[in-house]
Amino acid sequence: MRPPYLLLDIDGVLIPFPTADGTTPATHTRHDVVPTGRSADNPVTVWLDPAHGRLLMDVIRTGLVTPVWCTSWRQDATTLIGPLLGLPPLPHIDLPRPRITTSHPDGYLWKRDHVDTWLGDAPAVWIDDDFTALDHDWATARTARGTATHLIQTDPRAGLQAEHLTQATTWAARIPAVRAG
Ligand SMILES: [Mg+2]
Repeated sequence: MRPPYLLLDIDGVLIPFPTADGTTPATHTRHDVVPTGRSADNPVTVWLDPAHGRLLMDVIRTGLVTPVWCTSWRQDATTLIGPLLGLPPLPHIDLPRPRITTSHPDGYLWKRDHVDTWLGDAPAVWIDDDFTALDHDWATARTARGTATHLIQTDPRAGLQAEHLTQATTWAARIPAVRAG
């Protein structure tokens, strides 16, 4: 049996949004990275917490979840961000690049339809900072259909906390066994 997926966002989860005065948590370290399609003389500054790498490795070692990046960083999550946290190359969901001006163009998270298709009927716990009530309804309906689904929402300015990962593994350990395959 494959463990449920753990879908991981980056912005607002591993990379906190700056506060109004432009500061980031003191726990985080500055890195300059060059995302795919950008020139080397035009890097992007990101702030990452080394403790997140250790916490995520602890989660991976439990074997309770199958971690997958679910972020607009797309493959750069695997090649740029993960290594800065000491993570092995995790797969990513190849999200499209919609022309949208809000992350909720239809009242719910823009990633969700793609995630829904990608998951099929696989159970999943999804950590993101940007769910709406409609996303929580989606998770509830999916669970009611027999596909365990759990959303964990971070505060984008604080980002991922240890208890979010504890919640994810606790949930994964408790869901009913799903069919083999
Ligand atoms: Mg986000």
